[in-house]
Amino acid sequence: MPYASVYPLLTARAVARPFTYEVPDEVGKGAVVQVRFGSARRRGVVAAVGEAPPDGVRVAAVEKVLGDVPPALVDLALWLADYYGSTPARALELVAPHRPARRKEQTSAAGRHALGGEGRPGALSGPQGSALERIVAGLDAGKAAHFLLYGATGSGKTEVYLRACEETLARGRGAIVLVPEIALTPQALGRFRARFGDGVAVLHSGLTDAERRDERDRIAAGDARLVVGARSAVFAPLADLGLICVDEEHDASYKQESDPRYDARTVAAKRAALEGAVAVYGSATPRPESWARLERLELGGRIAGPLPPVRVIDLRREGGYPLSAPLLEELERLDRGGGKAILLLNRRGVAPALHCRACGVTRRCGNCDVALVLHGDGALRCHHCGQAEAAPRTCPECGSPDLARLGAGTQRLERELERVFPGLERIRLDADAVAKPELLADALRRFEQVDRAVLLGTQMVAKGHHFAGVALAAVVDADNGLAMPDFRAEERTLQLLTQLAGRSGRDAPGRVLIQTFQPDARPIALAARHDVEQFVAGELERRRELGYPPFRHLVRVLVAGPEPDAPMQALAELRDRLDGAEVLGPAPLLRLRGRYRAQLVAKTESPRRVAGPAGRLLAAASPAMRKAGLTAVVDVDPQSL
Ligand SMILES: [Zn+2]
Ligand SMILES: [Zn+2]
Repeated sequence: MPYASVYPLLTARAVARPFTYEVPDEVGKGAVVQVRFGSARRRGVVAAVGEAPPDGVRVAAVEKVLGDVPPALVDLALWLADYYGSTPARALELVAPHRPARRKEQTSAAGRHALGGEGRPGALSGPQGSALERIVAGLDAGKAAHFLLYGATGSGKTEVYLRACEETLARGRGAIVLVPEIALTPQALGRFRARFGDGVAVLHSGLTDAERRDERDRIAAGDARLVVGARSAVFAPLADLGLICVDEEHDASYKQESDPRYDARTVAAKRAALEGAVAVYGSATPRPESWARLERLELGGRIAGPLPPVRVIDLRREGGYPLSAPLLEELERLDRGGGKAILLLNRRGVAPALHCRACGVTRRCGNCDVALVLHGDGALRCHHCGQAEAAPRTCPECGSPDLARLGAGTQRLERELERVFPGLERIRLDADAVAKPELLADALRRFEQVDRAVLLGTQMVAKGHHFAGVALAAVVDADNGLAMPDFRAEERTLQLLTQLAGRSGRDAPGRVLIQTFQPDARPIALAARHDVEQFVAGELERRRELGYPPFRHLVRVLVAGPEPDAPMQALAELRDRLDGAEVLGPAPLLRLRGRYRAQLVAKTESPRRVAGPAGRLLAAASPAMRKAGLTAVVDVDPQSL
């Protein structure tokens, strides 16, 4: 029997290497096997076949062959483990997840989760045709290619994905289409199924284990050659992959925020490179990283008409926040004549802070360094740890009854709307209102069906949903995100404003209102002119000067613990032993869930050269750190700082 090196799927960092086993003749790289490891049975993945064991080592045989994944996915997982500083086992678990028992239901998850889709339009626009031609040339060149598909909201990116998939399938190869959120998969799925029928599978973390197993089986058997899903679909077990489309490529949800902290966009690029596939990244507001690095396929403006005019409301001159006079006027028009509006306020609750006018104290969370948010049920809640207390009638510090509710959240906005326009239906979309995915789907369906309503909510309302008849899109507080201490704060603001504006006037003339205290701020002024390109050009210039991505990579090390000084001390020691990178910090962060936190940020050309040593130093220090209750995270290419 031949020998194979097998990675047992154990999460412990101590066994992050392959072990030699005897395997049956037909077993190859990518086989998923059951092995005896120590005294336990484990699943394992074959990484290579043929290597003889070191002299004198007794080799056991694998107990069972459980299945297999395409060999290219083994290379992808091992690369991922190395790049993001995770373990091979954790990365292999992504491409070869546990297979639960078979279930009895017959219809596929893709069939049950899909919304309706449109038919195939007759002809492509000129720019769509040229973009498709370029993608097809990439497919036929037989090696990896990477494109940025750039065009305004409504410029027809989805039709380009659909045709590119058609061309890929016609060549006998498979395709993956990624969307940033599970909530967006039913709509995307509907579109692709309308064109490709049952040959479409769906993969995301919201499926049940049994559904996921069935979908993976359909893909592995070749019954579904097209996979639609959220970030984990990038690991779909398609053999002979030809195309990966990453829709709304600017969206930070493509980054996984737990170990392995991979970015599905980076993984898509690597998978395309490994398998000679074409990767297409689409957005109306691309990341500066993609703009600088990728060949651009430009779709230009909207097919159906011009982008809607944007009116900026200067809140320093207009009273009435959260509903200024111009916004009220627009809503009145809707109330009288019909039509739909989308209102974005990226903050939950009634008021983001309760503040005593007499002594100046704001009610804060006992575990976290943040203000408690007043909610509609009369509770003050912490948005980080969930701790809640009843809102006091008088100030607990000085006894004064003069408590001010500072600012506005979605619940207050909803109440104001109810007060002024009692006859206008309101549909709220935020984490409180749609705690379950079904509620979200219900709310979106409701908004699609009515002909007069206001959809209001957090950034959820701005994400990629297509609704007919939206006459008004308004940003209630454009300044909200700008205050974030993150170098991407301006980029995120521009993306959010542009995406929201893109919901308006897709099929009829629409209007867009942006309320702000900083009308001259760069992302607000440029979003109002739909000038994404000037924004990206300026952003790239600034990032070049500061050495931010795409010019250098960032590696973030975060340490948290129960004592105030220990995280800073641990990071200061780490910093002294990291060389070859420009290191910022350590800097303290907000305390969260009772834990004090601090971070280091390294700027480097080669993230592995920082993340590798940082990971090893932290692993070496881990007994002492554990004793002190400290936890550490190394995050390569972090999406928030
Ligand atoms: Zn007070
Ligand atoms: Zn808290």
